[in-house]
Amino acid sequence: MNDSTSDAAIGRITAEQLIARMEQLEISQRALVFAYVGLDISLAALARELEITVAEARTRIQEGLMALRADEDVQLLAGISRAGGRADFHDHIQRLQLEAWFCRWCGGFQVQKGRGRLRLTCSDRCRRERYKITQLEGA
Ligand SMILES: [Zn+2]
Repeated sequence: MNDSTSDAAIGRITAEQLIARMEQLEISQRALVFAYVGLDISLAALARELEITVAEARTRIQEGLMALRADEDVQLLAGISRAGGRADFHDHIQRLQLEAWFCRWCGGFQVQKGRGRLRLTCSDRCRRERYKITQLEGA
């Protein structure tokens, strides 16, 4: 087994710098970059959800990555989602102000459609599962 405690500590320090640079990206571009590099969500899935072509999604991600500090940031980004558990994931999402873009249950990419209340989950299934658990935790 490796020393996951110190790995996580290093992850957190460097993640701070990455998050600061990510904040310079426009919000939908930030969500795309995080979803693709950090969460390994496919270009096809992202394009479908955003209703753009795969080529457009690729270009937007490439442009976003150019605004970051290339290799160093990309590696960091790829590492942060795997560095911790569920709590860390939600922490990153929150600090990147991307709560609206990822399902609170499965972490999948989602685009808010139309106006009105913020959609917390990507599907009815996730909504039901999340509800079950929040019922247990609440009260
Ligand atoms: Zn979901």
